[in-house]
This record gives sequence, C-alpha cells and structure tokens, in this order.
Amino acid sequence: MTALRVAIVGLGKIARDKHIPAISATDGVTLVAIASPHDSRPDLPHFATLDELLQGGPPIDAVAVCTPPQVRSRQAAIALAAGKHVFLEKPPGASVSELDPLIAAAAQAGKTLFAAWHSRFAAAVEPAREWLALRKIRSVHIEWKEDVRVWHPGQGWIFEPGGLGVFDPGINALSILTRILPRAVFVTAAELAFPANREAPIAASLSMSDSAGVAISAEFDFRQTGPQTWDIVVESDAGTLKLSSGGARLALDGEVTAEGENAEYCALYRRFLELTATGAGDVDLTPLRLVADAFLLGKRRIVAAFED
Ligand code: NAP
Repeated sequence: MTALRVAIVGLGKIARDKHIPAISATDGVTLVAIASPHDSRPDLPHFATLDELLQGGPPIDAVAVCTPPQVRSRQAAIALAAGKHVFLEKPPGASVSELDPLIAAAAQAGKTLFAAWHSRFAAAVEPAREWLALRKIRSVHIEWKEDVRVWHPGQGWIFEPGGLGVFDPGINALSILTRILPRAVFVTAAELAFPANREAPIAASLSMSDSAGVAISAEFDFRQTGPQTWDIVVESDAGTLKLSSGGARLALDGEVTAEGENAEYCALYRRFLELTATGAGDVDLTPLRLVADAFLLGKRRIVAAFED
C-alpha cells in the first residue's frame, strides 16, 4: 500500500505535540512537508504558505490544517481546490456557515474533508456512550476548567474574534457530550464573561436541554490555576456516571470501569486513512453549533482584563 503523503499547515503546539508523533506512529501515513510562517523542521521541506508548498513542494495527497481557526477555512479551500484531502483540527472553523462551501467543494472534488474531534477518541468515551444508551438520564453537569497560561501560552489568537476564547477547550467537552447522549442537545441560556481588554470569553456558563427535557449545565473557565478539571457527570436511574481526565477515565458510582492512555491522535489518523480510501467526508458541526448558539443567546459580563 502506498502511504498517504501529508503536509502539516501550521507548525504550532498541537502539530508538534500530537500530529507529528501520531503520523510517525501510524502505518499508511507519512509526513512529507510543512507550511508555516516561521517554524520548520530540519528533516522536512518547509514553505511559508500552503500556496508556496503546492507550487514548489513535493507531491502530497493531503493536508492537516493545524492553524488557528480564523485562517483555517481559506487554507482548506485552497487544498480542496488543488485536489487534496483535508484533515481539519478542531474547531472545524471560526464560524458555522464557512463550513458549507468546504463540504460542497470536498464532495465535488471527491476528496475527504474530516472535522477531527479528538476528545471523542478518548479511551472512555465509547464505554460511556454504550452505558448511557441503556439508562434513563436525569441530569448532566460539565466542569471544564484549565489555566489558559499553561495550556495556551502566548496564543493571542484565542482571545481574538473567531478564536473562541474558553470555548476552545470547552468545545471538546461539547464534542463528548454530543457523542455520549442518545438525544440531540440544544442551548437554552448562556452567560459569557469577557475580559475588559479581549474579544472572546474567558469563562462561560451554559444551560442546555435535550428533547426529553433533561437539564444539562456546563461551566467553562480559563482562570483555573493548578490541575485542570475536565469532567462530565451524568445522573441516571442506574447511578452516577463520571467521565474525567477529558474522557480518558470512566467511573460508575465511584468505581473506575474504563481507563486508557491518550491515543486520540493515532485514532484520528486511522479514521482519516479510512475516509481517504474512498474520499468520504466526516464533518459533524454539532459542537460548533452549540458554541455559536451560546454566543447568540449569551448574556455578556465584562470581567477583569486578562494579561498574558
Ligand atoms: P499555536 O501553537 O498558536 O499554533 C498555530 C500555528 O499556526 C503556528 O505555528 C502559527 O505560525 C501557524 N499559523 C498561523 N497563521 C498561519 C497561516 N496563515 N498559515 C500557516 N500557518 C499559520 O496553536 P495550537 O495550540 O497548535 O492550536 C491550533 C489549533 O489546534 C487550534 O484550533 C486548537 O483548538 C487546536 N488544538 C490545540 C490543542 C492544544 O493542546 N494546544 C489541542 C487540540 C487542538 P506562527 O506561530 O509562525 O505565526
């Protein structure tokens, strides 16, 4: 089998921490070039832009777009127009509607557009979904809190329009929520805390529901110091389910029943390979729509300025 030749667009934290190790650990996929404004790797051809890579670089089959969301749709459109498969980091875009033309372009080109929700591939997410499918759910509460200075050092784009602010991690929780619950979820109210000097929220409280009227709440906060909290707790007729560590660990009434190493990005690349074999697409916009609705419905509070 010929390996899928991938170029990374945007050699930042996630590309270095996860994509490069996952590509090298996955059979059938190989990294052949980088397009990134400044950073490069000594072992790979480097281009400042995707256009330059496409014009003068080695042949590629696909791009993994790891840039900030504000510039991602343009790069995906360029790649699809050049006949390349596209792996989109989460969130798949800075707006919901910018995905429509990309989905259409991918379908027309017969190329894969893959919106990767890495948290859905955490070890305990599928066991949680299977357990919940058989239970009557009473309520859900999400706590997703981390220190932005630890997890996003110097990433100014995150507090710019389209950067999502605290929804950048929060959307990971929403991607898990919308995978493990049996019914569609919608936002009923939200409160967003904007630092006085920034364009995106640093904290958010969401009230949601599903079609059965189950109350679902979420607290997202970037101001937590010390260890992060990435937990989802579901009360059901058969007891309490707790997904913690970002979906890596499942406990039922306090007893751990599933736990695994973080192998999310290897699973994402295996999925990408499956999709590219036929040019199929996989773009679920549900988590991004929930974030957009939180912005539509959200009350805005101005809080203390945030300095990096
Ligand atoms: P980052 O460290 O700021 O990296 C972004 C990279 O994109 C930088 O190398 C930047 O280059 C490059 N870039 C910016 N504009 C570009 C352009 N127009 N063309 C090509 N490259 C461009 O951010 P990150 O943490 O890797 O996050 C990127 C995305 O991955 C975000 O959407 C985030 O949600 C997602 N993600 C991040 C994590 C995480 O743990 N950090 C986890 C999962 C998913 P310069 O620095 O040279 O400008």
